[in-house]
Amino acid sequence: MNYVFGPVPSRRLGQSLGIDTIPLKTCNWNCVYCQLGRTVPLTNDRREYVPAEEILLEAEQALKSHMTGEIDWVTFVGSGEPTLHGRIGWLIRQIKTMTDKPIAVITNGSLLYLPEVRDELMVADAILPTLDAGTAMLYRKINRPHPQATFERLVDGLIAFREEYRGKLWVEVMLVRGLNDTPQALEDIAQILQRVKPDAVHINLPTRPPAETWVQPTDDEGLMRAISILGNTAEVVHPAEGGFDLSGYENVMDAIIGIITRHPMRQDELERTLIRLSPGQVKEALTALKNSGRAQIVDRLGVHFWSAAPSVYPDEKHSQRTKSPSSSQVKKRGIS
Ligand code: SF4
Repeated sequence: MNYVFGPVPSRRLGQSLGIDTIPLKTCNWNCVYCQLGRTVPLTNDRREYVPAEEILLEAEQALKSHMTGEIDWVTFVGSGEPTLHGRIGWLIRQIKTMTDKPIAVITNGSLLYLPEVRDELMVADAILPTLDAGTAMLYRKINRPHPQATFERLVDGLIAFREEYRGKLWVEVMLVRGLNDTPQALEDIAQILQRVKPDAVHINLPTRPPAETWVQPTDDEGLMRAISILGNTAEVVHPAEGGFDLSGYENVMDAIIGIITRHPMRQDELERTLIRLSPGQVKEALTALKNSGRAQIVDRLGVHFWSAAPSVYPDEKHSQRTKSPSSSQVKKRGIS
C-alpha cells in the first residue's frame, strides 16, 4: 500500500482509513506546529501528483479487506494538503460508490476560494478545515502560507463553502501557546467563525512533533479561555489512543513507514502497535527501523517521536520563530 494507510485511531473520526493523495509534505502552508516537519518547498500547484486510479485501486482493496466495524470513516488526510491533488473530487465520488462509510477530508481550507475545489468536496460527509488565526498577520506567523494562499482567500473560501455545503463543517483551531491563545487572538478568530458558521469548532493541541522546536501547546488556562471565547460549538479534542492497523503491507517495516510518514508516533505507541510481536522481535524491528535510513527519531515536547527520514525538523539552533517563506522556498508556478 502506497497511498492508503491504517485504519488509525483519530481524535475526531474513530478508526479512520487514511487516503493520502500527495507525496510527503506537498503543501501550500508551512505551519509552525506541523507534525510532518517543515514544508520545503511550498507549492500551490493543483495537479495529479499520483495517478488517481492507483489510489482508488488501493482504497478498494483496503475496504474489501476490513470487516464491518473495523473502519468508522474514510478520511482524505496525510502527507500535506490533499486538495492539491487535482482529481480529489473524482476520488471521493468513486469511493462513495464502494462503501457506505462516511468520507471526511482534513484540509487547511486554503483552496476553498476556488469554485472547482468547493464543487469537488461537496459530496464528502464532513470537511475539517483549519482556522488558527483571525488576522492576516497572525495567519502568516502560524501557517506561513504560500504567497498566493492569502488570508482573505482563506476566509472567503470558508464562507462561500459554508453557504453551499450541506454536510458537516468542523473547523479546527490548533492552539499554540503565546501565539493564538491570547484573549485578542481568540476574539479575532471568534469573529471570523461567526461569519463562517461551522457545525462545530474543534480545539486541538500540538501533541505530535511540531516543525519548530519552540512550539508548545497552550495550558489549561488558555484552553478554558478558548472554550469561553470561541462559542458554544467549541470543544476540546483530546488525542486518540488505540491500535494502528498494519495489515495490507508486505512486511512490518513497510507498514511502520507507511504510518509514521503521515502520523509520527511516540515510542510507546509504536511498541503497542507491534504488540503481536515478542519483546525481542519488537526490539529487533525498532533497531532495523533505525538502521534502515527510512526513519528518524525527533525530540520534541520532551518526547522521542518516530518520523519518516525525509521529514525536515530543524534543531534548536535553526528553528526560527516566525519566518516568512523566502523566495527560494516558494515554487515559481502556482495558482494565481
Ligand atoms: S499542518 Fe497541514 S497545512 Fe500545515 S504545513 Fe502541515 S500539512 Fe500543511
